Amino acid sequence: MEASQEKVQSDHKAFGWAATDSSGLLSPFHFARRSNGDDDITMRILYCGICHTDLGMLRNHHGISLYPLVPGHEIVGVVTQVGSKVHKFKVGDKAGVGTMIGSCGACQNCQDDLESYCPSMTTTYTMFSPDGSINYGGFSDILVVNEHFAVRFPDNLSPEGGAPLLCAGITVYSPMKHFGLTQPGMHLGVVGLGGLGHVAVKFAKAFGMKVTVISTSLTKKNAALAELGADSFLVSHDSEQMQAALGTMDGIIDTVSAPHALKPLIELLKRDGKLIMLGAPDMEKPTDLPLYSLFVGRKVISASLTGGMRETQEMMEFAGKHNISADVEVISMADVNTAIERLAKGDVKYRFVIDIANSLSTN
Ligand code: NAP
Repeated sequence: MEASQEKVQSDHKAFGWAATDSSGLLSPFHFARRSNGDDDITMRILYCGICHTDLGMLRNHHGISLYPLVPGHEIVGVVTQVGSKVHKFKVGDKAGVGTMIGSCGACQNCQDDLESYCPSMTTTYTMFSPDGSINYGGFSDILVVNEHFAVRFPDNLSPEGGAPLLCAGITVYSPMKHFGLTQPGMHLGVVGLGGLGHVAVKFAKAFGMKVTVISTSLTKKNAALAELGADSFLVSHDSEQMQAALGTMDGIIDTVSAPHALKPLIELLKRDGKLIMLGAPDMEKPTDLPLYSLFVGRKVISASLTGGMRETQEMMEFAGKHNISADVEVISMADVNTAIERLAKGDVKYRFVIDIANSLSTN
């Protein structure tokens, strides 16, 4: 059936799990998705990753959450309907959707394919839609999205392993590209070996870099070296190890989800080295900026949001070519609240992904 005919029908019935308050506890929730427009695709969701940001949004850590809140922005699904103007997808294709589903399309950031920096960027969930309703994320059975905000999903990647690339993957890939931290032989530090961090190690190794993981958890050492291929491992509270690595790194990707000192990390950088902050511990509290450590060696500190849509597609293709996917623990929807609790304690290797298609049931 043509999408234009479908548009006159009522909205799609949808089902997912939502939190109704800042306890963040998820439970079954019925809602509606908009009808498929000319530029839209409808996806039957297969898998959705659980990002640390979902935890923060569920519990309203940043004071911006809207309830009911259906989280989820690492979404892989199968296209079930395409609008009449859709050109990237056909029914049956696999598609991925990440952290955003809209932007103005006209500002300089949008013109530069950096939609994530558009002042009108719409995140995948917990924002108001133009009709005043709240939008809902990927912990649900179907999604309707403008095709511009969906990417083609490489055939060779598993949908469960590939789902976290839609947020964790692009969030580390984008600053590595932008800040020139992709050159073979360069030395990259990755701070925090969680969802984002372990994917950063994989991308950096695929770029041919030397990688050092800087972690609070000695227990992650063997896996970092043997399974992820990191070249070395530093325990961040071991001052001897940190001292021995002073001035050795070209760049550092910092994915830590909690407040932490920046000085010891800046001191690991070579002259002109770059510390890129990706974690979002507490956006209300100012972070101490150790200026003197930056002066000595003309070092740079910056931060980065997730990348734009063109770069997200590029990242997916790079991941497909190098067979990069996340290491995941696949769970059923019934176990989602336990998984969120475990994520809060750092007890996951390295990403929970919900098997939506096989475990989300209205019964
Ligand atoms: P995650 O899987 O929970 O990993 C975070 C890692 O941070 C942990 O594995 C741990 O690594 C380290 N860590 C946790 N608590 C710590 C503490 N108290 N002190 C020092 N290190 C600690 O989280 P994620 O999904 O990778 O997300 C990481 C951060 O990025 C979150 O704040 C998230 O909201 C943010 N994020 C930002 C963007 C963006 O656009 N910039 C996009 C997505 C996510 P070790 O055990 O190795 O120390």
